[in-house]
Amino acid sequence: MCFERTIRTPMSARGVGVHSGQIVTIVLRPAPVNTGIVFRRVDLDPVVEVKADVDLVGDTRLSTCLQSKGVRVSTIEHLMSAAAGLGVDNLYVDMNAEEIPIMDGSSVSFVFLLQSAGLVDQPEQLKRFVRIKRKIEVVSEGKKASVEPFNGFKVKFEIGFNHPTILESDCLCEVDFSSTSFVREICRARTFGFLADVERLKQQNLVMGGNLKNAIVLDDERILNPGGLRYQDEFVRHKILDAVGDLYLLGRPMIGLFKGYKSGHALNNILLKTLMMDADAWEVITFPRGDQPIHFSVLPSDQRSI
Ligand SMILES: [Zn+2]
Repeated sequence: MCFERTIRTPMSARGVGVHSGQIVTIVLRPAPVNTGIVFRRVDLDPVVEVKADVDLVGDTRLSTCLQSKGVRVSTIEHLMSAAAGLGVDNLYVDMNAEEIPIMDGSSVSFVFLLQSAGLVDQPEQLKRFVRIKRKIEVVSEGKKASVEPFNGFKVKFEIGFNHPTILESDCLCEVDFSSTSFVREICRARTFGFLADVERLKQQNLVMGGNLKNAIVLDDERILNPGGLRYQDEFVRHKILDAVGDLYLLGRPMIGLFKGYKSGHALNNILLKTLMMDADAWEVITFPRGDQPIHFSVLPSDQRSI
């Protein structure tokens, strides 16, 4: 049987917001069933709670931000991806600034924190899934994103990347999470950007906290990070990591196939909003007889360390 899940004990981390450049401390705390992932701005008086919900997504220019009653919670996607990948349904995320820390630019620190906190099932509530019943596709400016029926959870992504260090074959990746470990194969993929863009964005007071320790940076010819890549196709794997986090804004794990072509946070969000508006295209289901498809595989080695 598959139940909702939270963490056993609180865990905290401190880091810099990649866009704000601000130092922030987050505390991940257990939450009761039916909570979802709830961000809490504890620097405000009174504390403001913002739930991870597709309808609260505001700014999607460079990251996914939530906005509620004028309060922002930004760059949530890598933490959301970790929560999705470990099947965490209920979690409080206390934060003393607007932006979730970027850590190393991937989800691995959040996976480590959640694993260190200990994952616990909550037998009072069966896990609810959003099952895709019909294909929904959105297209914009040569980019595409879609969801369609599939008995499990699969993400297929293609990026268009013209760079001398990146082969065409490294621009396409398909991951069936019933047989591929999120922890081993996806969660370590880092965000990336071009040096020219980084300089332009810094002039707009964006990516103020960005550096080679929390992103892969490329110039026209080379990857500037001294250690190179963690995976040969790290760029497209990071886009899969982002998509997993963005899809989790449905509030429940999805049973279906997501396909992205050059898609990003903005189009992913339009896809989810289009899906939610079409009540015939999805349903919320549980598996009381324990016959659910394998959603995220957890290999024994995932339980130990990264
Ligand atoms: Zn990302």
